[in-house]
Amino acid sequence: MTTELPVSGRAAPATDPAGVRGAVRQVPAYPFTPIDVPHKLDQNENAYDFPADLKRLATERMLARPWNRYPDLHAETLADRIAAFENWDPAGVVLTPGSNVLIKLLTELGGIGQTVLTVSPTFSVYTLEAQMLGATLVQVPLNPDFSLPVEGLRAALRDNPPGVLYITQPHAPTGFVDPEAAVRELVEAAEGWVVVLDEAYHQYSGTDFRDLVQAGTNRLSLRTFSKAWGLAGIRLGYALTSPLLAGHLRKLVPAFNIGTLAEAALEVALEHPGYVRERAQEVRRERERILAALQDHPLWTVLPSQANFYLIRTPDAEAAYRHLLAHGIVVRRQDRLPLLEGCLRVAVGTPAENDALIAAARAFR
Ligand SMILES: *Cc1c(COP(=O)(O)O)cnc(C)c1O
Repeated sequence: MTTELPVSGRAAPATDPAGVRGAVRQVPAYPFTPIDVPHKLDQNENAYDFPADLKRLATERMLARPWNRYPDLHAETLADRIAAFENWDPAGVVLTPGSNVLIKLLTELGGIGQTVLTVSPTFSVYTLEAQMLGATLVQVPLNPDFSLPVEGLRAALRDNPPGVLYITQPHAPTGFVDPEAAVRELVEAAEGWVVVLDEAYHQYSGTDFRDLVQAGTNRLSLRTFSKAWGLAGIRLGYALTSPLLAGHLRKLVPAFNIGTLAEAALEVALEHPGYVRERAQEVRRERERILAALQDHPLWTVLPSQANFYLIRTPDAEAAYRHLLAHGIVVRRQDRLPLLEGCLRVAVGTPAENDALIAAARAFR
């Protein structure tokens, strides 16, 4: 059999079709380029795969399910399991393939033609979706110590028509956790707004805002299986909120959006959650070990964090990034963000990977 190269008869269009909205044209594509090196510390992933015995159980369950049938309309079975695990009303649980999808839907729910309020620097998905979907994006700079600018946010809540407020705990990309009183004050000041507490990394900080979310129908906790559960490849995120807000959010969720195979894997994970706590504890130990090992570094400063990643402040982020890459370690540059001059973001890896990071850092001069 011969393979012929496809003949392309069409030249690439030189200009965007007028049908593409200006807001979509203007937003830069999500800035990520995969780099193939031994130590991948650039995406805040779990350093360990889903446990092999659970993977086997999950694949057996996948084999036993019909693949020709549509899954639940809104993943009701899985939502019930998550509700039981989180001690939450199942009517207030909404599932999507990754919590990034929920951020898009929340922007559709309360951002379009209204306000999206967050801090700066912040998780880029909030701001990209706001810009693309035509929300008025308002960002208040974090305090220099990375704590929430409570007064500035309160003023922004007063001065702008309502929409969606994002509070990230632990914060990304700083790993900072605010005092609970500060978060409570903000949430209570945001009467009339949809308040999102993004808790993607809460297992690493030991924080949990379910009580605060429970106390108001406008509040929502965003959670994911991508980090502490080690299931980023399966794609599942969820919201814990009031039945009222969940009802509106569910209208925006595409029907049948959680596949049969993902459902099977997540059921198994929820039946065996013990590994999550053990790994989160290892991450905390390793994080403190790295901080201690590099505290005397002549040029680099490791900043404290409550997440599974941390920032390293360097005099020259480009040089530091290239040095680590030459040692087989890829990290994420954050040095163009406000307050983060010279900063790299590094995920906590396996102990061996963290050793490699420490050795490479010490070899830099
Ligand atoms: C990683 C991350 C998420 C999770 O995204 P998924 O789409 O669930 O993989 C959500 N919020 C923040 C701040 C994150 O860093």
